[in-house]
Amino acid sequence: MGGIMAIGGLDLKDKGEIGYSASMPELPYLEIYLERLRALAVGSRLESLRVQGPMVLQTVSPRPSDLAGSVLVQVERLGKRLVFEWRNDVWDGPRYAVVHLMIAGRFLWSERLAEPPNKKFGLASFAFERGTLHLNEYGTKRRATLHLLADPAGLAAHDRGGLEPLTAGLDAFAAALTRERRTLKRALADPRLFAGIGNAFSDELLHEAQLSPMAITTSLAADDLARLHAVVQSSLRGWVERLRLEVGDGFPGVGKGAGAVTAFHPAMRVHGRFREPCGVCGTAIQRIVFADNESNYCPRCQTGGRLLSDRAFARLLKDDWPKRIEELEAAGLAVVTSAPRAPVGPPRSTG
Ligand SMILES: [Zn+2]
Repeated sequence: MGGIMAIGGLDLKDKGEIGYSASMPELPYLEIYLERLRALAVGSRLESLRVQGPMVLQTVSPRPSDLAGSVLVQVERLGKRLVFEWRNDVWDGPRYAVVHLMIAGRFLWSERLAEPPNKKFGLASFAFERGTLHLNEYGTKRRATLHLLADPAGLAAHDRGGLEPLTAGLDAFAAALTRERRTLKRALADPRLFAGIGNAFSDELLHEAQLSPMAITTSLAADDLARLHAVVQSSLRGWVERLRLEVGDGFPGVGKGAGAVTAFHPAMRVHGRFREPCGVCGTAIQRIVFADNESNYCPRCQTGGRLLSDRAFARLLKDDWPKRIEELEAAGLAVVTSAPRAPVGPPRSTG
């Protein structure tokens, strides 16, 4: 049974430099960034944009200094990117700044005026009249990107085309989900199919909808599709509400604590909870680790007791692979590592 202990692979909780990593900020967090930026920065003048290091800025024109003196007229989300729109009296049209946070990029708001980028983590700082917006990155690799555009046509290159999950109706949702024969986990987290859902919230949505991450999209029953659609909307809205309450009139932080943008929120049902008890049934949460992401799931709530394995592991271990949660439990390997942390899931949306 030695192979089983290797199923977990990397403990993603330990990978991040300051306690988080492995998941980029997803829709609920990005929505809160938008709301707070609208409250704090939209409508105000940019005094300066300072870019630090050679990696982040992906465009040569307009230059960061060209934006000084313009007004931030709106911020929008384009998939997992945030788009800042700038105007002034001189230009013939708006200019845009497109930020992709990737995995470890984060925004921070400082009330200090004209603050330069943080020496260690800073990629850029936007100095507004009321404070400074920092774009930082807390990883060893520089992956976050900033594009400055003079042409709205350039925005199209940043649109992965995914459906907006908060507003998509059932028909459009079902059409996107079943367009290709995929696992549910892959399909939900595919930015070409759905905007803003990634590794963390795909886990959460599938647990709430009681669907297996490895179920095949094109084989889903109509009532499963309808239930998943309803859960996607209510759960993501609930998460936006939860985070809005945590952040209040502040700004999302980094690391741990209320309002922090983290891959492992304490209210998450399964994501980042390997071997912890399911909040619904108490079974130890299981996971499968792939090259670029992982699935966390409850084998009693989601797979009828069946343990999932990726094909390579299953082939490697052949008959040693436990097929059901009962076998793991009997072998003492489905350890529940801590008491349940109530409540499970976000507050239900009332709207
Ligand atoms: Zn469960």
